[in-house]
Amino acid sequence: MTKTKICNKCGVEHPVTYFYKNSTKAHGVQGECKDCWRVYDAEHRMYLNGKRVNKTHPLWKPGRYKTLDDAWSHTEIDNKTVEGHVYVVSNKAWQGWYKVGKAVKSEDRLNNYQTSSPHRDYVLEYQEAFDNRNNAETSIHECLRSKVSTHKNEWFYTDLQVITETIQEVKYINARSAKEVTKTMDETIEGFSKAQLSEDR
Ligand SMILES: [Zn+2]
Repeated sequence: MTKTKICNKCGVEHPVTYFYKNSTKAHGVQGECKDCWRVYDAEHRMYLNGKRVNKTHPLWKPGRYKTLDDAWSHTEIDNKTVEGHVYVVSNKAWQGWYKVGKAVKSEDRLNNYQTSSPHRDYVLEYQEAFDNRNNAETSIHECLRSKVSTHKNEWFYTDLQVITETIQEVKYINARSAKEVTKTMDETIEGFSKAQLSEDR
């Protein structure tokens, strides 16, 4: 005789095999049946390329997606978050050429490239995280266009090292100017409290 269980969501009695296993529950299975769980899961969770995405992520949206571009348009992504990566990809079909681009997550963007490439032969060569990927990418492209004579759109014909060094330079400059802003703010606050103190006297 097969064991049965009543789903605490739809109230229907199903064989226990119709419930997902869950060792944290008293009966070793979920309280709701597979049908009810799938509905709940689709409405309350986001999966990106099979991986669960935390609800606190700015681009969270319930559903299962292969890449972020399947869940959102580029404009929506740009409006929701400026943080992200500047990445470098190559493809052996174009020896010596490197594409420098920006994305919320470079691995996610790579998945997108692979989908449109029959040989899945794009390689992620390098990535760096920035508070504002748009500004970072613009600075990096400008620097590279002045250094590298052969380039087309976002593709550069040069040594990978020239590109990675340029990205690191921009990262360093960004970090330094962020520090200067904080320093100026600290000085302003200090100045303010001194002024406040003399007024109080
Ligand atoms: Zn149910």
